[in-house]
Amino acid sequence: MRILEVNRVDKKTFHFGLTGYPLAHSLSPALHDAALAATGLEGSYDLFPISPLPDGFDDLAALVNRVHTGQLDGLNVTIPHKQSVLQFVEECSPAVKRVGAANVIYRLNGHLVAENTDIPAFKEDLNTWLSDFTSEFLPPRRALVLGAGGAARSVVDALLSDTWKVVIAARNLQQAVDLCASLSPYYPTGGLDTTTLTAPALKKLEPPFLIVNTTPAGMWPDTDLSPWPDGLALPETSFVYDLVYNPAETALVKAARAVPIPALSGGGMLIGQAALAFTLWTGRPAPKQVMRRVFDQKAGLAEKPSSKRGSLL
Ligand code: NAP
Repeated sequence: MRILEVNRVDKKTFHFGLTGYPLAHSLSPALHDAALAATGLEGSYDLFPISPLPDGFDDLAALVNRVHTGQLDGLNVTIPHKQSVLQFVEECSPAVKRVGAANVIYRLNGHLVAENTDIPAFKEDLNTWLSDFTSEFLPPRRALVLGAGGAARSVVDALLSDTWKVVIAARNLQQAVDLCASLSPYYPTGGLDTTTLTAPALKKLEPPFLIVNTTPAGMWPDTDLSPWPDGLALPETSFVYDLVYNPAETALVKAARAVPIPALSGGGMLIGQAALAFTLWTGRPAPKQVMRRVFDQKAGLAEKPSSKRGSLL
């Protein structure tokens, strides 16, 4: 079935959604509601929790079809559907093909397209942050990525495409090796290695300039957890970027600031990926400052003890 595209620029009402499981306390509805209002648009952003496949297969297929039929103008996708959703779309962007995961579904000229806005969002947030410090020197582009799950795929791809040399450290080495094997063909000049996420293994590395946490360690409610191995000092010349944004100051970010070395958590990346999705869905620039204000308010709320653990996309 081919659907005629409504001209998005003339459209004034948009319906978006997020699927994943679980979806407790997502910040995305607030970010997108605020973006719609600030852009003079109307609409909604709903949560569609769907069980992991195979149980959720029919529900996920039906939900994606709602983007095809125009009932939904855009869909965000989070764990555990970032990979499994690809079987329901007609086109994958080059970034989605590289990392094998999408966080955004939208309709373009009647086609269902899967996109990954985590990659450019991470890249932009990282580079904006680093440029505050590095305008006067050229840092060695050596990065250590902690974790080898879905977010690590996007982060490693972003770093390699920006000419960083990357070591992936994972507690399950095989996961890091698999990630390395699937991304390496896209980066034939190399620069990607793996190791175990243990103190002895990290001690052997050349000190990284950049350490990126892509594990959920430290995310509310386990706020005392850090992915950094016990008994190993953080390198005094490193910068730390933690993808976790709830709490805004994770145990890892606190430890880095205590050294003291510069550290940033993932709120900017979250806002960036939402802003890029908003533009794909509406054809309009996203009001990022408004989204940032909403994030700052809501991230504080999300840390309250009444919150339950869950995705915060
Ligand atoms: P995922 O696919 O489940 O991957 C998590 C990875 O972390 C796996 O390699 C896992 O290893 C490892 N891990 C989990 N707990 C660990 C621990 N305590 N110590 C060491 N390694 C650990 O999850 P994901 O989608 O990559 O998301 C990871 C985090 O990134 C989440 O907190 C998510 O909210 C955040 N994130 C933020 C943004 C943003 O915009 N800021 C975007 C995407 C994701 P095992 O397989 O051994 O458990």
